[in-house]
Amino acid sequence: MAVPKRKTSKQRKRKRRTHYKLEVPGMVTCPNCGEYRKSHHVCPSCGYYDGQDVMSTNEDAE
Ligand SMILES: [Zn+2]
Repeated sequence: MAVPKRKTSKQRKRKRRTHYKLEVPGMVTCPNCGEYRKSHHVCPSCGYYDGQDVMSTNEDAE
């Protein structure tokens, strides 16, 4: 079995781990309310998609 010849130093380990990061792919801000939403999806907070209200989350029309 192959075994590392040298101990991985703290510096080397930490430099390698700088590439580990969280990614949130496909998230954009809603042009209507500014909340984060998934691109190509209806905004969950205001219900708008492509500039028009397609979901009507709040019942303002009375
Ligand atoms: Zn929105």
